[in-house]
Amino acid sequence: TTSSIDLKQYIRGIPDFPKPGILFYDISTLMRNADAWQIAMGRLTAAVAPWSVDMLAAIESRGFLTAAPLASRLGCGLVMLRKPGKLPGQTISYDYDLEYGTDSLHIQADAIVPGQRVVVMDDLLATGGTLAASIALLRKVGAEVVGAATLIELRSLGGRDRLDVPVKTLVAYD
Ligand code: 5GP
Repeated sequence: TTSSIDLKQYIRGIPDFPKPGILFYDISTLMRNADAWQIAMGRLTAAVAPWSVDMLAAIESRGFLTAAPLASRLGCGLVMLRKPGKLPGQTISYDYDLEYGTDSLHIQADAIVPGQRVVVMDDLLATGGTLAASIALLRKVGAEVVGAATLIELRSLGGRDRLDVPVKTLVAYD
């Protein structure tokens, strides 16, 4: 039955990408398989639906791939959190620190009606830095962030403990 299928068999770890020493979990092979992708989206929908979501916020760029089908299934809206220079019109940004240097995420200034219940989505939770920055940006524009969801969690990096919202993930690695 579909409930017993282990999605890990569709995710591959690619050594030394994007640089030496990094094991990169590739969701391409999960998305390529119609049944596996369908099951993954069904499980994410079941995990997120109890939060009564008004809006999903999708982190560029693999968050777009998980959030768009989910918004369609949940019947909620979708907003993009993007790198600088990508979104048209007035935007609000949040700057955050990376291992080397800084980065920033933008949202359209009118994307969120204050008080809307928002869930932020990405493909993978590692240190939690990207989700933490996204949550801070969403709060800056008045969102009530009610949770975060990803396909994959790298547990040993402790990302979940850095976040002050509940987190749902489908597949975990140590
Ligand atoms: P964090 O900010 O939690 O340390 O890193 C998570 C971000 O890095 C996510 O946006 C995710 O897309 C990306 N990322 C880091 N490692 C991997 C990986 O092994 N596989 C994939 N697909 N994305 C990763």
